[in-house]
Amino acid sequence: MIETGITPDFVVVDGAEGGTGAAPLELSNSVGMPLREGLIWMRNALVGVGLKDQVRLGASGKIHSGAQMAKSFAIGADWCNAARPFMFALGCVQSMECHTGHCPTGVATQIPWRQKGLVVEDKAPRVARFQKQTLHSLREITVAMGLDSPWDIEPKDMRERINGARSDAIAQIYTFLEPGCLLSRVVEGQTGLAWSMAQANSFRRKQ
Ligand code: SF4
Repeated sequence: MIETGITPDFVVVDGAEGGTGAAPLELSNSVGMPLREGLIWMRNALVGVGLKDQVRLGASGKIHSGAQMAKSFAIGADWCNAARPFMFALGCVQSMECHTGHCPTGVATQIPWRQKGLVVEDKAPRVARFQKQTLHSLREITVAMGLDSPWDIEPKDMRERINGARSDAIAQIYTFLEPGCLLSRVVEGQTGLAWSMAQANSFRRKQ
């Protein structure tokens, strides 16, 4: 992006905890980063080269509540995606038959008599209520924090419970780079190391 001056409008970080019942099991269990780690990684990459205002950052991965949205906004997300909770609101019972066409609830099937299990008039209001209440929760949390907007939530506003007796500010647990630092100085830590090895025209690391 820096070399070409060409930037995408947005990047979506899809955490390893996401995926459907049809996702390959080994990929679901062992490949990929959890959302929080991946989101902070991307946030640092974009902030570190001064592109965060230009490239919007989406977050997805088992996000189903206002609190999870607030946490994602705190660590760099501009918006959140969700699929699974809407599937649940629609009647999915996680039988993991999506890829067979034999969905027992009619959510993921092309078989007409199975599709009848999804009564749109009944399910549509449930999906709408779920969305409305989730956003209401996000609003309650934002207002309780004394902020006007979820986009005002910052790492310093969020604490992580380490154990029953102690919590730490999330900014003390993870590194949050300052704007443009990857371009102006040598940065210690994982992002700095990755940046020093990266090259624009190849996925191979720089020797
Ligand atoms: S209930 Fe249907 S949509 Fe949900 S996991 Fe099972 S097959 Fe897939």
